[in-house]
Amino acid sequence: MQNWDVIVVGGGNAALCAALSASESVKSVLVLERAHEDEAGGNSRFTAGLFRIAYEGADDLKTLIPDLSEEEIRNTDFGTYTEEQFLDDMARVTEYRCDPDLTEILVKRSLPTVQWMRKRGVRFTAAWGRQAFKIGGRFKFWGGLTLEAVGGGPGLIEAETQLARTAGIEIWYGARALSLLADDSGVHGVVVRYQGKTRELTARAVVLAAGGFQANTEWRTRYLGPGWELAKVRGTRFNTGDGIRMALDIGAAPVGNWSGCHAVAWDRNAPETGDLAVGDGFQKHSYPWGVYINAEGKRFVDEGADFRNYTYAKYGRVVLGQPKQFAWQVFDAKVKQQLRDEYRIRQVTKISGNTLEELVSKMEDTDQQTALATLKQYNAAVRTDSPFDPNVKDGRHTEGLDVNKTNWANTLDTPPFEAYAVTCGITFTFGGLRINTNAEVISSDGEPIPGLFAAGELVGGIFWFNYPGGSGLTNGSVFGRIAGASAANSIS
Ligand SMILES: Cc1cc2nc3c(=O)[nH]c(=O)nc-3n(C[C@H](O)[C@H](O)[C@H](O)COP(=O)(O)OP(=O)(O)OC[C@H]3O[C@@H](n4cnc5c(N)ncnc54)[C@H](O)[C@@H]3O)c2cc1C
Repeated sequence: MQNWDVIVVGGGNAALCAALSASESVKSVLVLERAHEDEAGGNSRFTAGLFRIAYEGADDLKTLIPDLSEEEIRNTDFGTYTEEQFLDDMARVTEYRCDPDLTEILVKRSLPTVQWMRKRGVRFTAAWGRQAFKIGGRFKFWGGLTLEAVGGGPGLIEAETQLARTAGIEIWYGARALSLLADDSGVHGVVVRYQGKTRELTARAVVLAAGGFQANTEWRTRYLGPGWELAKVRGTRFNTGDGIRMALDIGAAPVGNWSGCHAVAWDRNAPETGDLAVGDGFQKHSYPWGVYINAEGKRFVDEGADFRNYTYAKYGRVVLGQPKQFAWQVFDAKVKQQLRDEYRIRQVTKISGNTLEELVSKMEDTDQQTALATLKQYNAAVRTDSPFDPNVKDGRHTEGLDVNKTNWANTLDTPPFEAYAVTCGITFTFGGLRINTNAEVISSDGEPIPGLFAAGELVGGIFWFNYPGGSGLTNGSVFGRIAGASAANSIS
């Protein structure tokens, strides 16, 4: 039996922020990471490292990116992303269901939390490559997503791990938490399987940050619904709902959108779970500049309903709902330069043709005749009177189709044409544990469970139906920091 002040279950961003935060007030902090070191870091390591934060302009960003040069500031329109905008985005995309208290904390602490991370030693940069377009020689950011960890997800996890080690935090890799040690007075530790042995570790407080249940095929099908066993998992294979189950087993309350998840368009031939060598490269997020065609040769969704940041997380489900669970994203040469880097990776399922006829003739598993008719019908329905502008919702739309495209509707007329086959890639699940604003886990009787705290993907009630891009890391950092501090406070 070993005794710790705080045990943190999980090895991703939420867990490492919780551990760093707890270590500011207590001596012995242990991180239990289920994965071995080469696969450690959870979904956080798979990310691009994008953080959604509220900021008022370049001055706020300079506190996070001190090496931002005067020239870069001059050549860039960073815009602002106010707390009100972030709150509005959360409310709108979650269809007004996001927990108001937790959401307010997420938004209001977004900037101070990343400033705390920066102070601890995590480095950030501006997401020039992903979230900005160059117009007239000047970068313009769009969609409120400006900040990126240096080195993306791998860089973030590496930095946080180094900082944890420097702070004297112990990390056990290949250590799978199995259950909580709990009695009527609360939680006192964790049962873990480590180095082939199951053992009991006592702690004065435990933080759960072990991710959602997206990598658990059976739970996915049980809670998200039939068909979800057919989705691919974008990230870590280790997030199988252990943390959620451990807490439910001792009476924690489930909350949130248990049948909902974040899911995107993902290469049709991607492996069953994420591949760290490819990271998020299997995603295919440039659909607003083209059209979707399903196996029946039909369009089925408004590709230009909103900026990509506000539709990508819910369109994976739409693709999963198509016959044979896949679809083609079709583009012409006019937008080729605008396609994101992920379209140029080696592991891509792509066809091309010099005519639309040639292109559709290569669409295996698809009603090619209908596909050709659909593309021609789409071309004829595009209103060309307003100019194409990727930086704003340009209103360039189609008219008279069963499924219209409301923005960025270009005709497909410039060869070569390309099409990319995608299926559904699930990112993380939305349902989870109920916490309060101190990140204390709440029991099904409505009271905090003494000694138990939670943060990150396994918390429910914050995201529903959809999600504003870049909120997952911010969520893990904000509530991880709070959970670590609350755990430490609870024992001091
Ligand atoms: C491909 C991809 C790209 C993404 N891009 C972005 C982005 O750019 N910006 C953004 O904000 N979000 C992004 N996300 C979402 C983001 O990854 C998550 O919202 C966030 O990382 C969740 O952090 P977390 O710490 O809660 O979970 P994770 O980082 O997944 O960490 C969970 C940890 O728990 C461990 N674990 C599981 N079970 C146990 C157990 N029984 N015992 C011990 N440990 C256990 C796992 O091994 C893992 O280390 C992306 C996700 C994916 C998959």
